[in-house]
Amino acid sequence: MRIAIRTGHLYDGTAAAPRENVTLLLEKGRVARIVRNDEPLQADRTYEARTVVPGLINSHVHLEVNGEPDTLGVYVVRNAKERALYAATNARRALHAGVTTVRDLGASDAQAIEVREAIARGEHVGPAILAAGKALCMTGGHGFFLGRETDGPWDARKAVREQRKAGATCIKLIATGGVLTKGAVPGQDQLSEEEMRAAVDEARTHGMRVAAHAIGTNGIKNALRAGVTSIEHGHLLDDEAIALFKERGAYLVPTLAAVRCIYENAQTGAQPDFVVRKATELHERAAENIARAWRAGVRIAGGSDAGTPYNYHENYAYEIELLVTMLGMTPQQALTAATSVAAELLGVDAGVLEEGRPADLLLLDGDPGIDVHALRDPRVVIKGGAVAYERA
Ligand SMILES: [Zn+2]
Repeated sequence: MRIAIRTGHLYDGTAAAPRENVTLLLEKGRVARIVRNDEPLQADRTYEARTVVPGLINSHVHLEVNGEPDTLGVYVVRNAKERALYAATNARRALHAGVTTVRDLGASDAQAIEVREAIARGEHVGPAILAAGKALCMTGGHGFFLGRETDGPWDARKAVREQRKAGATCIKLIATGGVLTKGAVPGQDQLSEEEMRAAVDEARTHGMRVAAHAIGTNGIKNALRAGVTSIEHGHLLDDEAIALFKERGAYLVPTLAAVRCIYENAQTGAQPDFVVRKATELHERAAENIARAWRAGVRIAGGSDAGTPYNYHENYAYEIELLVTMLGMTPQQALTAATSVAAELLGVDAGVLEEGRPADLLLLDGDPGIDVHALRDPRVVIKGGAVAYERA
């Protein structure tokens, strides 16, 4: 099956200016050729689209939760099998909204890993999935109700080995407290630098990259010194942390939608009080700090923490909009963060549309370089050269 796509504007996922009036020819799962619209091409099917962009990459999701107001409660009232079905449903929803790759940063068991395998076998539809398995947290730490409680450097190594054995392809560490766990203080250290250093070393041995949940200032720096590839959230970073990010070449995944969605829905009364209080405290400082990191040249990759309260897997476009409105990115910079930069962070061959690269792409009615909202509701989603979704 050869698919041709004639488009007015092709954003290739990088900072390059869009290419005008070109046709992409997709063959064997890849972009075989990109030619001028007036060149004749043989194809089985031809589409027209105002704009073509790479499929979106969400660097931070939790497939087994649906955006319920009370995340902790989901783990009490729903069992592991129900959450596996949620993960399958959310994978499909994300793909239909234009997300062709996700990184699942923490599940209560192998839910995201099994969905990944079902998709690979062709039994289910969804994005390409990188999965961390269970997040490593200290005993009683943030996310303990779904994570792997881990204490001491050797136990951290063992915990990494366990995730690898279960099928994980990346590792998630909890460096500080967080919003959704009762009693966890976001600013306080949790796993120590020594524990994280051991986990990172073990993960590297097996070719796995490490992401650290880190909100507090000192915990962010501990994780960066330990050698993680990305800091997730990063709300309370300071200038010393910014310097460390740049020195280490680490990425920041700000998950702006996570705190924002809790804050915007504070009045519903459906969220636990401690969640609303912590998110409200972080909300103002987060925008200011992360915008400063962006202006200072820290690499920011798109990731929304989808699955957290009111933060839906099919609403990743909201995170990209917040990169513009809260951080001051141009729409194209935000698109780049959610495509090529996220692909670099994950170490996957995706996020860039060039000849020879995988054909994960979206056909849009609008121009997201002018208005970032054009990324919502793609007309056609193509994953691996095949049509995965077509709007009715
Ligand atoms: Zn998360």
